[in-house]
Amino acid sequence: PTTVERIAAGEVVERPASVVKELVENSLDADASRIRVAVASGGTESIRVSDDGVGMDEDALRQAVRQHTTSKIRDIDDLEGGLATLGFRGEALHAIGAVSRTTITSRPRDERADRGAEITVEGGDAGTVQPAGCPVGTTVEVEDLFYNVPARRKYLAQDATEFAHVNSVVTAYALANPDVAVTLEHDGREVFSTTGRGNLTETVLDVYGREVAQAMIEIDDGKLPEGPLEGVSGLVSHPETNRASREYLSTYVNGRFVTADAVREAVLEAYEGQLASDRYPFAVLFVEVDPALVDVNVHPRKMDVRFANSEGVREQITAAVEDALRREGA
Ligand code: ADP
Ligand code: MG
Repeated sequence: PTTVERIAAGEVVERPASVVKELVENSLDADASRIRVAVASGGTESIRVSDDGVGMDEDALRQAVRQHTTSKIRDIDDLEGGLATLGFRGEALHAIGAVSRTTITSRPRDERADRGAEITVEGGDAGTVQPAGCPVGTTVEVEDLFYNVPARRKYLAQDATEFAHVNSVVTAYALANPDVAVTLEHDGREVFSTTGRGNLTETVLDVYGREVAQAMIEIDDGKLPEGPLEGVSGLVSHPETNRASREYLSTYVNGRFVTADAVREAVLEAYEGQLASDRYPFAVLFVEVDPALVDVNVHPRKMDVRFANSEGVREQITAAVEDALRREGA
């Protein structure tokens, strides 16, 4: 790949967790009911995401690793001038293939296919499609991320830190998709596994364990005060069950995992005076809003959103969480 392509790839792929995010999103788009994520050395050595989704035939495999987007980056000026406005849809597999050794094995769900096929991309060079024996669905294996971009490889954190990022991404998607059985493995050990039986509380149990699941209080969507938000639902923890990290605040806007500060701060405000300053509750909070009232940042690495009336949004979220805590006598 050219330098421009590698830089572009870096904008989609920052670290192992960003690869995991794209691959898990693809599996969900492919209607998977099971997704297994297995990483080695925090994902720096290898990342494997397998699903039982619709799969791809040989043609689709060939297409999948191509750059098949309308917004191609042609030169450095495009990159510097317009990064914030570029859409990266249809770029993920291409970008990942440009900065790793990637093998995609897939077999379509369609019953006429009695075997699958695979394609390998090494540093942007795609090989030919080969027949492969495999179950229905898709497995993407990404090895040696950034092996050909030493500056980025060097910038990766320790394995434990990279794995923590991978863990939060997979956790966020598992919690948002209780009807999908999600498994996460690190260096051959299972970290968590959800049943996919479609219940949020059970998914919280699978991911965070019994103590946390028992401390969760349901948000009563019916009592939401008037404001820009159409709905606030999910679970928040009793203040006695807390952690010294913000990473257990999983927030979603219109089903999309975001790190929106306005949402997080609104949740924390409801706990005012009930938590020590360095402690944070657990929350799995789904916020629904008219898409016209929210600005979803198009940059692929940013998961922040901006609301047209963020003051109103904060008031509604704080009220909904306060109501839940009060109900439990917290
Ligand atoms: P996008 O998801 O934006 O279309 P990607 O580069 O992530 O772009 O994927 C390219 C295409 O490859 C997808 O549109 C889809 O057709 C196919 N694809 C990728 N991952 C999977 C998967 N796990 N199962 C089935 N098809 C897939
Ligand atoms: Mg995708």
